[in-house]
Formats: sequence, structure tokens, C-alpha cells
Amino acid sequence: MSNQFKLTILGSGSALPKKDRFQSAHLLEAHNKLFLIDCGEGMQIKAFQTKSNLSRLGHIFISHLHADHCLGLVGLISSLGMTGHRTNIEIHSAPELENLLKPQLDFFCQDLGFDIIFHPFNPRKKEIIFEDRTLIVKTLPLKHRVPTCGFIFEEKPKERHLIPEMIEAFNIPIKELPLIKKGGDFITEDGEIIENKKLTRDPSPSKKFVYCSDTLFLPKIVSDIENADCLFHEATFSEEEVLRAKKTYHSTAKQAATIALNSNAKKLVIGHFSSRYPNIEKIIDEAKSVFPETIATKDGLQIYF
Ligand SMILES: [Zn+2]
Repeated sequence: MSNQFKLTILGSGSALPKKDRFQSAHLLEAHNKLFLIDCGEGMQIKAFQTKSNLSRLGHIFISHLHADHCLGLVGLISSLGMTGHRTNIEIHSAPELENLLKPQLDFFCQDLGFDIIFHPFNPRKKEIIFEDRTLIVKTLPLKHRVPTCGFIFEEKPKERHLIPEMIEAFNIPIKELPLIKKGGDFITEDGEIIENKKLTRDPSPSKKFVYCSDTLFLPKIVSDIENADCLFHEATFSEEEVLRAKKTYHSTAKQAATIALNSNAKKLVIGHFSSRYPNIEKIIDEAKSVFPETIATKDGLQIYF
């Protein structure tokens, strides 16, 4: 199984969709699982265009309840129902979403072959909202016009790598290996302790993906998102609109890049561009002047890390 993460941009625009930039929607593929992060109107079309197979989709994370981040949900769920989807859809969001969606789902999406399970979170608190064998997802409270959370996807610490020659040299039985992979020492029949560091090598580092949209420039998040392999940060405006960004609780590209620089991100991905820009070259340049490892999103872009 590949340990690579894949981020597919299904919508790189903001409030008003344009023909080449739909509203916010992002698919994260990790450890053979598929997570949808925000679900703007039109995401289904981009999912077709990017040949994204949604049959494995199980969890949807909604950052906040603005239309451009969640209006695609009913359409998506209706389509999943028609295409024989069987995996339950678990929606993680602010609590109000359940009451907003439920009447529409009851009316439009009857006889689904799967359940819709709502997992409300408190957008003002840092919480662990998903955990399985390999991954953990935490919320990251942001500052926007309505309660908003970013999400931190982290791989759990991995097992140590066995050194085959040493395992053979000490004649270690197979049943002992799971414990040694977890860092345990080996005790021989004579009672000699063979330290784990003689038997194993360090595991490959755990990956971290951080998603921050939408938010005012918020330097205090830096300590929570340090060393991300990939940081997605909204960059709705160019620097000349810095006051508008502040007024509407959004960020500029330069501010996004500052967060990436100060949090020691390996890669910055910017998106959620305002529809006022016919092209975003200026925005990209502003971000790159602070953080050269910046990728500007466009619909359909796939990023591996
Ligand atoms: Zn918003």
C-alpha cells in the first residue's frame, strides 16, 4: 500500500463559482481511504473530471456553514444513493448542519443503501474528531464570520523497521516481532537483554496535512500546525486587498505564506481565490516572495506528498 497522500482539488474558488473555478471542495486520499473536505456546489462534476472514485468515500469534513463550503452535500448524497454506494457517510461539522440537511435528505434522499451519520464538533474547541488504525484528524479553530475550523490530518507513529540480519543473528521467534516493531527489547533464553535499537531502524516519519479555510490571518495557529508536509491555506485576496481581507475575515496570499514560513511547512497550497481576479499570477508571486514552495490550486489539480 502506498504511503503517499494525494490531494485532489475539486474546487479552488470561493463564494462565486466561475467556469474554471468551482466552490471549495478537496479530496484527500491517504492509506487507501478517501476524505472529502468541504463540499461546494459542483464538486460532483469535478470528481467526474478528475476520475475520482467516490465509492470509497466514508467521511466528510465541513469547515464552516457558508454556502460555498457545503451546498454540494445533498446533491452528492443523492448521487451516491443512485450509484449503489454502500459505505456509511459520516459528516463532521458544526452542530447546526444536521438540522439544516435533515429535512432535505428526508425529502430527496430516501431509500439510501447507507446511513448518514452526523458527528457534530464544537468549532471553538480543539478536538480529535476521527481516529483509526493509521490516522487521526483534529479540529483547528479559526477566525471567520461564522464559527469555523480547519482540520489537521496526522499519521499515527509508525512501527519501527526490523533489521533482518539482526533478527536472524539472534534467532528471534516470529511471535516476538510485533512487540519489537513497537519498540520492545528482546530477552534471550539466557536472560540477556538485546536492546531494540540493535534490532530496528527508526520508522519513516509520520505525515501531516493541514487544511485552513476560511480565516482571518491567525498567527497563533502556527504552534498547532508545525512541520506540515502539506499546508493548505486560503488566499482569497491579493495584498492590495489586505483591508478587505480583514473586514471579511479572510487572508491574503502573503499572509498564507507567512503562516507556512513560520510553521515550517514543507509545501504550501493556496486556494479559495476571490472571483474578482481574472488571473492569479500576482497572488502566486506574492505568496512565493515569502514562501517559495507555494503551489496555487486550480480545479482538477492533484498534489502528492
Ligand atoms: Zn466562508
